[in-house]
Amino acid sequence: MKAMLLSKYRHLEIADLPTPVPGPRELLVRVAACGICGSDVHGYDGSSGRRIPPIVMGHEAAGRIPSSVR
Ligand SMILES: [Zn+2]
Repeated sequence: MKAMLLSKYRHLEIADLPTPVPGPRELLVRVAACGICGSDVHGYDGSSGRRIPPIVMGHEAAGRIPSSVR
């Protein structure tokens, strides 16, 4: 899968990562869009201390759940 990775502070890159495998009582969501909020901005520059690289950015996502699991 493609992901926006904060590989170090102030450096974002598009990375190819293994597709996550959902655990029991979890779903894999195909993300269609993802917002960027203030905590992402402060995570990007390291000022909040809440994002430690390397980390996949984006926590306000919207997407679809495959019909086979609904
Ligand atoms: Zn947020």
